[in-house]
Amino acid sequence: MATTSAVSAGTLLHDKFGRQITDLRVSVTDRCNFRCVYCRSADPENYRQHDELLNWDELERVVRVLVGLGIRKVRVTGGEPLARPGVEEFIARLDRLGVQDLSMTTNGRALAGCCDRLVDAGLDRINISLDSLDPVKFERITRTRSLREVMEGIDRAQASPLKPVKVNAVLVRGMNDDEVEAFAAFARERDLVMRFIEFMPLDADRHWSRALVVPAEEVKRRIEAQWKLEPVPHEHSETARKFRFADGRGEIGLIASVTQPFCGFCSRIRITADGKLRTCLFSKDDHDLRYLVRNGKTDAQLAEHVREVVTEKEEGHRINEPDFVPPSRTMVFIGG
Ligand code: SAM
Repeated sequence: MATTSAVSAGTLLHDKFGRQITDLRVSVTDRCNFRCVYCRSADPENYRQHDELLNWDELERVVRVLVGLGIRKVRVTGGEPLARPGVEEFIARLDRLGVQDLSMTTNGRALAGCCDRLVDAGLDRINISLDSLDPVKFERITRTRSLREVMEGIDRAQASPLKPVKVNAVLVRGMNDDEVEAFAAFARERDLVMRFIEFMPLDADRHWSRALVVPAEEVKRRIEAQWKLEPVPHEHSETARKFRFADGRGEIGLIASVTQPFCGFCSRIRITADGKLRTCLFSKDDHDLRYLVRNGKTDAQLAEHVREVVTEKEEGHRINEPDFVPPSRTMVFIGG
């Protein structure tokens, strides 16, 4: 963990609803070696050309400017962040910038081989996606046969100083919702944080429907039918409602983005791999920082632009409004 850099109160990022923005998700690539059905299409997709993506120097510069505006938490994501060569060095650069809480979301496939390097680089925490414990279903969902590698990645992360290790499952009705209890048992056996994420309308195939969402309340009820849960205090801005097992190890997190939106406390912004600033996963527009970075704007000008854009951050994602329209960019391009 890096040391804190001083930021004066006047430079902090706030939106017009009074929310302070302290968390950044940085997508470092739109490429992924999985093709999860709730995220990507099975067909080859139009990846961005390499020169359309911010290079490591440009990404570091953008994050440096944002840290100067009070960003304290940075999560590196994608696409699959471990698929972009040089990501460990990028983590080290972010650590040197003074990011207080440095984490990554990964599908875990390449994690076992690089976990030690990520730790040495200064990574604090890791989230690993795991949507089924069953090899056949895992293959159906991810369209890969990588369950063994992902499990090795989880083992390696748990044996490392990365704390806590969180495992994320997106539940889709009829696909893996029969595994809720098995995932809870997995959290207990492995003493890890198992997080259940509601399926959001961000899939490339546009198959999302409300009927496919497994409500967090149902997940809690089913787990409580077997084990007593105790709430774990959490910050308002955290995405998950957290519970520990009263009789033992392990924890669960419920991310109810659809059925119980937590936008009122949102403290997040996102940078896409091609250098667009997004103030909400479901933003209609994104804001082109790459153009500014590549056309001679100073750090002060970049910071001013970010401040103006963030002021207009959406009040909420509106998934539950009758006129809701999913964003034209899907999860894989935005960065989860
Ligand atoms: N490749 C990495 C991984 O698999 O975790 C990072 C990128 S992935 C887009 C980030 C997170 O978004 C994962 O936890 C993934 O399960 C989640 N995600 C992707 N599409 C989603 C959707 N339609 N609804 C909810 N979560 C989704």
